[in-house]
Amino acid sequence: MDKAQFIWMDGKLVAWDDAKVHILTHTLHYGNGVFEGTRAYMTKEGLAVFKLKEHTKRLLNSAKITRIKANFSQEELEQAHLELLRANRFTANVYIRPLIYLGYGVMGLNHIQAPVNTAIAAWQWGSYLGDEGLENGIRVKISSFTRNPAKSMMGKAKSAANYLNSQMAKYEALEAGYEEALLLDDEGFIAEGSGECFFIVRNGTLITPPNDTSLESITQATVLDLAKEAGIPIERRRITRDEVYIADEAFFTGTAAEVTPIKDVDNYVIGDGKRGSITRQLQEAYFDVVYGRNPKYKHLLTFI
Ligand code: PMP
Repeated sequence: MDKAQFIWMDGKLVAWDDAKVHILTHTLHYGNGVFEGTRAYMTKEGLAVFKLKEHTKRLLNSAKITRIKANFSQEELEQAHLELLRANRFTANVYIRPLIYLGYGVMGLNHIQAPVNTAIAAWQWGSYLGDEGLENGIRVKISSFTRNPAKSMMGKAKSAANYLNSQMAKYEALEAGYEEALLLDDEGFIAEGSGECFFIVRNGTLITPPNDTSLESITQATVLDLAKEAGIPIERRRITRDEVYIADEAFFTGTAAEVTPIKDVDNYVIGDGKRGSITRQLQEAYFDVVYGRNPKYKHLLTFI
């Protein structure tokens, strides 16, 4: 990881190497902490955070869902992001990781007396699934792990605890020689990737599942807006694994993954095994938006 100079911790800029917590930090033991993954892009007019408001709102919603009383407001958190990015004097694209966590002071499952802390880290980071993956697509395996079912977990929260499921699925896929996992829900329909939402294209129609067992993805919403604007027919409905195998195109979306084409799933070649034409169109449109090249979407960028 590319170290930066500072990390923001509860209102202070702390040197990267000094940004530490006590070993009895509550979240470290029981997994109740919420986070975001946000990106800032180096546009022609300087560094700009994409959809800062939306990410900050989701962070606070995640805290609400998991019974954590956030210690900073939406406005304070947004300002903190900007303060951190300015202080670090970045020269390339940045990934931002805000985290609201339960700190040191009490142990035991009952978390409500634990202090609440917030930190924001940011570092220069390239593409999550590789530049090669962005261009030529990645290999995906349907996971043997079921996505956390809504009966037991709360998937609208970007909660650290939810990510054991993702982490095991990702590990399994990598160990089997694939690059990413695709998880089914407890009824056998496509839920999402370990850290991405999922789309297919069939006969010119763009199809993506509802967010019943996936995060309410900010990138998915952007891509759906771009598709609508381009006049591409859209369906929000459940997808079965056999429909994936016979799709013309498939791709993942996520803040980290951006728009990543999928070239095969479980060794079934998708389409002609390359980035499909609608995938490419939406990927280019997405990059135009995040790099500030589309004036219609410029209001989604917060310049530091
Ligand atoms: N699903 C999961 C499980 C994720 O971790 C992410 C990444 N935050 C996504 C979907 C995509 O969400 P977004 O587009 O908001 O980054």
